[in-house]
Amino acid sequence: MPDEQLVLHRRQKVPSMSESVRIVDVTPRDGLQNEPNPVSTQDKLVLIQKLVASGIKHIQATSFVHPKWVPQLADAEAVSAQLHRFPGVQFSALIPNLRGYERAVAAGIRHLEFVVAASDTFNRKNLNRSKSESLQLLADVGKKAERDSVVLRVGFSTCFHCPFEGRISARALLSAVRSSRELGTWRAALCDTDGMAFPDQITEALVLLKEELKLAPGELALHFHDTYGRALANTLAGLKEGVREFDATAAGLGGCPYCPGASGNVATEDLVAFLDGMGYETGIDLEKLLDAAQFASRFSSRPYQGHLLRAKRAGACGVTPTAAKAEVS
Ligand SMILES: [Zn+2]
Repeated sequence: MPDEQLVLHRRQKVPSMSESVRIVDVTPRDGLQNEPNPVSTQDKLVLIQKLVASGIKHIQATSFVHPKWVPQLADAEAVSAQLHRFPGVQFSALIPNLRGYERAVAAGIRHLEFVVAASDTFNRKNLNRSKSESLQLLADVGKKAERDSVVLRVGFSTCFHCPFEGRISARALLSAVRSSRELGTWRAALCDTDGMAFPDQITEALVLLKEELKLAPGELALHFHDTYGRALANTLAGLKEGVREFDATAAGLGGCPYCPGASGNVATEDLVAFLDGMGYETGIDLEKLLDAAQFASRFSSRPYQGHLLRAKRAGACGVTPTAAKAEVS
C-alpha cells in the first residue's frame, strides 16, 4: 500500500487527546499458542524482528507453561535466548506457576505475566487448580519476583464473561483483583478472553476498580479478543476511563481453546490505526506493522481476522491524493 493511502488513517492531532498509548504485542504468545501447525523458532524470531522494526517496544514473546499443554510454545527457552538481539524492547512472558517463574527467570526474562482467571471454573479448566490456589501461587511468585527485581503484571482472564459461567459481574471482577492487590501492587491486565464483553461492562468495571481499589489508570491494561467485533468499541471505553495500555496480536491471530470458532485478539494494525486516527501516539509505523501482520497471517489456520490488511489487499483505503486531483481537473 502506498504511503499516501495510509495517511487517511492519520488525523490531525487533537491536542487534548494527544497522549501516548502503550501497545503490547502478544502475537508470539497469545497469537500462536492455539495454532495447530508448528511455527519454527526461527519464524517466531523473524516475526518479532518485524514487530520491532515497526516500532513496537513491548512484546509478549512466549509462555513458560508445560510443553504438554502448549506444544507450540515448547521452545520458550530457545526464543528467549535470542531476544538480546532486540535492545530497547521490553519482552515479557506468561507464567502460570512457580516452575514457569523459575524457567522464565533462568531464561533471562525480567517482565512476567502471572495468569489467573476471574472465573473459578475457567481457572480450573485452564490451569487445573482453583482460583484461590492460583492466588496462593501468586503470593509465592510475588515474593520471589521482589527478591529478584522481576516486574510482574497479573493477567486476569475471563474478566467480563466466562465460557462456562456466563457473564462475570463487575463486583466479581473487583473481588478477584482485590484479592491479588492484597498480595502486591502489581499492575493488572483485564482480559476479555472470549470476546463477549460490551463497552458498558468495560466502563462499569473500570469505574468500580478505580473507586474501590483506588487504582490509577496506569495500573491497568486491557486485553481484548475480537470474536464478535467489539474489541475497538471496548478499547474506546477503556480510553475514556484513562487506560493507556492495550494488548493486541498482528493479523488478529489467536483464539480461545474453550470457545470453538472464537477469533483472536484485536489486530495490532487495526488498534494502531484506530489510535492514530484519534490522535493518540503509539510510536508505531503502520506500513511496517502491516508487513509484520502479513508475515504473521501465514501462521494462522484461519482466514485473516483483522480489517486493515484485508482493505490493503483489496486496494481499498480510498483514492490516493494524486488520483483525486486528476478527477477534479
Ligand atoms: Zn488472550
